[in-house]
Amino acid sequence: ISFQELNILLYCILTCLNVFFPNLDFSWSTELEQNLKDVFQLSTFRPLQLKAINLSMSGKDLFLVMPTGRGKSLCYQLPAVCSEGFTLVVTPLVSLMEDQLMYLKSIDVEAVSLNASSSKEHAKMVLAEMTDSKAPFKLLYVTPEKIAKSKLLMSRLEKAYNAGRLSRIAVDEVHCCSQWGHDFRPDYKLLGILKRQFPKVPLLGLTATATGSVLKDCQKILCVPEPITLTASFNRTNLYYEVRLKDSNSDDSVSDISALIKERYKDQSGIVYVFSQKDAETVSADLQGKGVNASPYHANMNPEDKSQVHRKWATNKIQVVVATVAFGMGIDKADVRFVIHHTISKSIENYYQESGRAGRDDKPADCIVYFGFNDIFRISTMVVMENVGQQKLLTMVDYCQNVDRCRRSVIAVHFDEVWDDEGCNEMCDVCRHDYITVDITQHAKDVVQIVELAGSLDEKLTPLKVTEAWMGKGPAKRRKMIQTTTLSRLEVEAIITSLLLQGYLSEDFSFTPYTTYFYLKLGGKAPLLKNQSHSITMKMRRTGLDANTVSTTQQTVQESFRQEAFGCISRD
Ligand code: ADP
Ligand code: MG
Ligand code: ZN
Repeated sequence: ISFQELNILLYCILTCLNVFFPNLDFSWSTELEQNLKDVFQLSTFRPLQLKAINLSMSGKDLFLVMPTGRGKSLCYQLPAVCSEGFTLVVTPLVSLMEDQLMYLKSIDVEAVSLNASSSKEHAKMVLAEMTDSKAPFKLLYVTPEKIAKSKLLMSRLEKAYNAGRLSRIAVDEVHCCSQWGHDFRPDYKLLGILKRQFPKVPLLGLTATATGSVLKDCQKILCVPEPITLTASFNRTNLYYEVRLKDSNSDDSVSDISALIKERYKDQSGIVYVFSQKDAETVSADLQGKGVNASPYHANMNPEDKSQVHRKWATNKIQVVVATVAFGMGIDKADVRFVIHHTISKSIENYYQESGRAGRDDKPADCIVYFGFNDIFRISTMVVMENVGQQKLLTMVDYCQNVDRCRRSVIAVHFDEVWDDEGCNEMCDVCRHDYITVDITQHAKDVVQIVELAGSLDEKLTPLKVTEAWMGKGPAKRRKMIQTTTLSRLEVEAIITSLLLQGYLSEDFSFTPYTTYFYLKLGGKAPLLKNQSHSITMKMRRTGLDANTVSTTQQTVQESFRQEAFGCISRD
């Protein structure tokens, strides 16, 4: 062959190498790839993992923001295996620590821990091995209070540092440093000592939830001069998001769920999340009655039963776990094909986390939530003590009620992520359907009048009472004083929910020794309705486009809305 041909051939070979091994350009790259496969038994990196690892291996301080379950731990475990000495890992909970130790043991990576329940002998051995160049362990897990309280540990760390054995510091759940985060832990405030004492050791802070301002705060507290921040997208492209309406009159969501499981998800693994322990028992029994291989799971079961359910589900001997949110920690099944919420979650964060257990193998999976009017108030009274409980719940309600914003975009915006409309790819029910805008000003006036009237009579109305009054099912003498409606129950509920979300109504709690009541009162925007030119609209799904996925209840809403001859403003 000619010189020119040889040149072209060489060029082709180099290009191929570059395409197939774009990251083989660090001295540690080969070892990383090898250990990823041989030790961690993984074939490829997930987005941002390799970048984070290379930065950390290059000695950079780094904050890594990545949703739960995406694989943050690998970003310090793999470097630990590929480095001399050991990596110090700060973890807030002993249970998280134990999960990790168990996992590392299963893949033959040596790791040890120091926490409040460590025995004296164990602690002594670990402390001695820290400075031993022949010490076998690659990772040392500690709780933050160990750093804060144990002078002995600090002195051993210093010795290890001086001997060049402290290769890296990982601070898991790094948002715990900041008071502005949602899970502040005082002992995390003292972790700045690490970077002050060991400035040459690269620090890796990991979190699923920190916003920019929280990270700035963490940076100050941890005394990291110029960290690089890597943020992974919250968009789980393989998940399909859908909301289905629950009918308060005849809730047949369980039949619906069992049909889905037996047809669409035949022989596939999944979770049904429910509101309460009692619901876990009853929904599970109902599903079993309909021939579904389901088991309940909740915090009040004894530990053996819980771990048995978990084990059987993990090995596909049980198809569906019907669980409260107690089913979460340590759940790491890759092939979960569906997560169905029988009741809405208490916030978008919770929903993202719970539904995110679907499709961890990156194959398609469905996240369906059943949205019922009464569930709003059940959860509302449950979160009444939490500072921003109501606000968070309403974001979840908004996620469900909304028909004009892509479900993914609602989640993304919630997590402060810049959203690109191309990001959904019709993988949510909103993107697959059209909607119309309807004027509900007169309806709003009717409802507000009902609530106002009750107020003037010193009476409090539950959402159910408001619904019934408006539908003409209240006391006869009262009926004459208000404007009743012929709208269906679902429509009435949709409008009341919308008024709550838009601030024309608001929540009013009342406590008895036994229970908390939820009443509706006028919201801050109610007075605007006195203004003749003020109008309120609400968006509703347009029907008839895809009969398969629009439930019949939603169709009825549409039809009778039309019959009532609203001023419908169509939008295509
Ligand atoms: P996080 O700490 O971000 O919540 P973990 O580190 O606990 O997530 O990892 C969650 C799961 O993802 C683990 O089962 C882990 O083995 C798996 N995982 C991590 N990286 C990969 C990868 N590159 N490919 C496949 N699975 C991975
Ligand atoms: Mg983690
Ligand atoms: Zn969408």
